Amino acid sequence: MHVMVRTILVSSLLQMVPFVANAQSLADRYRPAAAQILGTSLQSSTAYDQLGELCDQVGNRISGSAQLDQAIAWAVKTMKADGLQNVHTEKILVPYWKRGAEKAWTLTPQQHELSILGLGMSVATPRGGITADVVVVGSFDELDKLGEAGVKGKIVLYDVPFTGYGPTVMYRVIGASRAAKYGAVASLVRSVGSLSFDTPHTGTLAYDGKLPKIPSAAVSIENSTMMRRMALRGERIQLHLELENELIPNQPSANVVGEIVGSEKPGEVVLLSGHLDSWDVGQGAQDDGVGCMNSLGAAKAILDAGLKPRRTIRVVFFTNEENGDFGGKGYRDAHKAELGNFVAALESDSGNGPVKGFSLDFHGEGRNKVITATPEEKARAEKSLNLLKSFAPLLEPLDATRMEMGGSGTDVGPTVSEGVPGIGVSHDTTHYWEIHHTKADTFDKIIKLDMQRNIAAVGIMAYLLAEMEGTLR
Ligand SMILES: [Zn+2]
Repeated sequence: MHVMVRTILVSSLLQMVPFVANAQSLADRYRPAAAQILGTSLQSSTAYDQLGELCDQVGNRISGSAQLDQAIAWAVKTMKADGLQNVHTEKILVPYWKRGAEKAWTLTPQQHELSILGLGMSVATPRGGITADVVVVGSFDELDKLGEAGVKGKIVLYDVPFTGYGPTVMYRVIGASRAAKYGAVASLVRSVGSLSFDTPHTGTLAYDGKLPKIPSAAVSIENSTMMRRMALRGERIQLHLELENELIPNQPSANVVGEIVGSEKPGEVVLLSGHLDSWDVGQGAQDDGVGCMNSLGAAKAILDAGLKPRRTIRVVFFTNEENGDFGGKGYRDAHKAELGNFVAALESDSGNGPVKGFSLDFHGEGRNKVITATPEEKARAEKSLNLLKSFAPLLEPLDATRMEMGGSGTDVGPTVSEGVPGIGVSHDTTHYWEIHHTKADTFDKIIKLDMQRNIAAVGIMAYLLAEMEGTLR
C-alpha cells in the first residue's frame, strides 16, 4: 500500500476506533527504540560468528554427552562476553542416549544397504541383530486392519508422506509401541522431513510402558519409498537390522541463564530461550543453536542500542529438549515461586527461516492439546492477542507482523502450563524440515542476513514486553 494512502486511512480510523488509537500511541512511543534495535542487529555479526564457534568447536551435543558439557561452558563464557548479568548454570539430571553401530539391509528381493538412523531412546536390537519380513503401512488405520495376523513377528515400516511436522511426527513418536501391540519385532519410519538426499532424520520416540519395547529406526525417504514399491509389486521383503545403543539415566547437565536486570521492575521477567542440546548428528545449527543465539543476540542488541528495559530480560539456554524435556520441567519446578511475576516466556526453536510473526500460547505443555476455553478464558486470550497485535507496526520493516494464537515451545511448555503467557517465534519453515535432525543441519546453511533480521524481531518483541504498561496476562 502507498504510504500516503495508509496514513490517510489510519488517521481516519483513529477517529472511530479507540483500539487503533492505542496501537498507534504504543507504536509511536517505541518506534525510535525499535529502529535502534533493528540498526544494532543489522550491524552486528557477533551472534552469527558465535554460532559458527558453537557448531565448529563443539559440534553436535546430545544430552549427557561431553560435547553438551563443553557447550554449557562455552555458553557461560559467551553470555558474559555479551554483557549479560547474573550468568550462571542451574543443574538438571538428564538421560544420556548413546548411539552405537547401526546397520540395515534388505536380503530379498535384492540386497540393498539402507540409510538409517536409530530413533533416540530406542532399545538396541539383540546381539547379532534381527532378521524378519517387512510389512509396509501408510497409516495406523492400515496397521490396525492388518492386526496381529499380519504383523506378528515382522518389522513394520511406516511409509507416511510428510504432510507437515505435527501430523507426520506421531508415526516416529508412537509408531514402535503401536506395532509392538500386534507383536512386531521392530519398526521403521520413513524420515519425517520434506526433502531427502538419502539423509535419514532421527528424533525421539516414546514407548508405551504397558507394551514390549521394540527397536526402531528412521530410514531415508529414498529407501522407504523403494520398499513401498517392492511391497506393491507383491515382492517379499526380508530385512536385517542391527542397532547398538545404550541408555544411561540421570547424567548431570544444566540450563544456562543470564540477564539484563530491569531498571524499574527487576522482579518482573521476560524469558527468552532456545535449547542448547541437539541430536547427535550434524552440528545442531538450526535445531537449536540458532534459537539460542537469536535469544542471546536479541538481548545483546538491546544492550548495544543503549536501552535499559524496565523489566528483567532473562535468557535461558535449556538442556534436554530433544529427548525428555527435563530442562524445561526442571526450570518450572525450580522457579515455581516466581512464575507469577513472569510476563511472558518466549522460545525460538524453528530454525533460521525469516520470522513472519509471533504466536501466543495460553496452553503450554503437550502438543495437540485441545482446550475447551471458558468464555472468560476466550475473552482474556482475545485481549492479550490484541495487545500483541498492537506491536505489529513496529515489526513492519521486518515483515514479521503476523500475530496469532498458537504454540510456544517444548522447553517453555511446563512454565506456560503454570499460567505464564507463552510466545512462539513463527519462522518460515520451508527449508527447515529438509535438514531437521539430520547430518545436514550444519552452519553453512545459516543465512546471516536472515539471522540478523530474526534477532531484531525477537529483540523488538522482548523490549516491548519488558517496557509496556500492563502485560499479556
Ligand atoms: Zn529444537
